[in-house]
Amino acid sequence: MYKTKVGMLKDVLASVKENNLSDPFKDLEKTGRIILKGGLVVDPKNNVEEVLDIAVLNDEIVEVGKDIYVEKGDMVINCEGLLVTPGIVDMHLHLGDLFEISTDPMYGAVANGVTMGLSPGAGNTFMAPALLGAEVDRGLPVNIGVYQGAASVLSTMLSVEELIKLYKGELDEETASSRMTRNAITNTTAPLVVGIKDHMGHFIMPDENIDKIFEITSKAKLLYMTHTQDPAHAIRLVELSKGRPLHLGHTTAAGCGTHMDAAEGMKTVIDLCKNENITGEFVTTMLRPGGGSREGLILPKKSQELSYEALEKGIVDVLISDGQNDATMKGFGDTRDNIPAILELAEMGVLKLSKSVATMTSNPAKLIAEKTGNDWWTEKIGHLGKGALANITVINMDVKSAVYTMVNGEVVGFENRAVRRGSGAGGFVSKFGMVKRVGVGDLVMFSHKR
Ligand SMILES: [Zn+2]
Repeated sequence: MYKTKVGMLKDVLASVKENNLSDPFKDLEKTGRIILKGGLVVDPKNNVEEVLDIAVLNDEIVEVGKDIYVEKGDMVINCEGLLVTPGIVDMHLHLGDLFEISTDPMYGAVANGVTMGLSPGAGNTFMAPALLGAEVDRGLPVNIGVYQGAASVLSTMLSVEELIKLYKGELDEETASSRMTRNAITNTTAPLVVGIKDHMGHFIMPDENIDKIFEITSKAKLLYMTHTQDPAHAIRLVELSKGRPLHLGHTTAAGCGTHMDAAEGMKTVIDLCKNENITGEFVTTMLRPGGGSREGLILPKKSQELSYEALEKGIVDVLISDGQNDATMKGFGDTRDNIPAILELAEMGVLKLSKSVATMTSNPAKLIAEKTGNDWWTEKIGHLGKGALANITVINMDVKSAVYTMVNGEVVGFENRAVRRGSGAGGFVSKFGMVKRVGVGDLVMFSHKR
């Protein structure tokens, strides 16, 4: 893969020539593109599956085509023999949930090819966007967003109507500071979430409160994710939904047999996903024939077969990791299983490769766009067309791992490890789109004079 000619590095690396420092980049006229050359590009949304080049400028894909001409100053990444897919979107990945004190899981995620993680900590409060936003400001290699915990949504004096206004960005400051919190930072940034997460393992809410959450999420267009494990809880939530949208988080967990017969549980929740307002997501670790990383729940064979069938039929078309295993807020899986699961589903003939790739790229983007009513998600995320954000995962299919992870035009992962130059590439995402800085992390460094 790595081709170098004798003597060529003299023009490429810094060195000394006759006592003078030689800077190879000094005289270079830059176009500054990064060109991913000659990889098998699988871009499900744009119906592309062929060997192509992709040119990236700043944070965007600017050209996709055969043999893109390399200009002086371009950086070329040789992708021959590699699979090039839209950046992996992991819409259920615990990164920096409130009691996480380490950024290690985020670096682990990009090493595994993840370019966006949406963190559904049940304990996330109104403060979560400010706290995680500050982490983004301090420099993270991955795009990150959060769901707020459902219990905390109803913990203030705000009425349901006022909460709907809050999440639409229409609540006045006066009301927020008298009825929600005196913290102006929290009041300002609280609406920057993707959705709300209900979690039967942390709090069991009364029917009337669940109804209120449905009212808020359906009217403010937020994703309502529930912790699926006890099928009885999932049934209760679907009944209370009364046709309003509900997403069954890590749906496969109900097929692990913790609360009823495993296969029966799996069948129950797959049937629920057939309702028009109900969507689901399967955990990559649980789908792997070999079991994957074995830190979470194990999905028995019978339940695995039922989940493959549901994928084949398109009843569920989104995969998630529910990682990280080594995070404080531990989920049922790990991002290490994402790429192997995508490839194994194609190998087993459960899904065609492009459909399998879609489960962690265009499908989650489409789902979030539909739930939030925001086309930013499908225009900028989950595909490799011109104008998309340059979030790209380059995969070695032989060893089933990420060779390159690119986030917003920066290489953040190389050969299954994070690279430090990628710190700061990540942005903060919400239902409204993405910002590169939230600003909370800057507040202590600068004073703002009016
Ligand atoms: Zn989870």
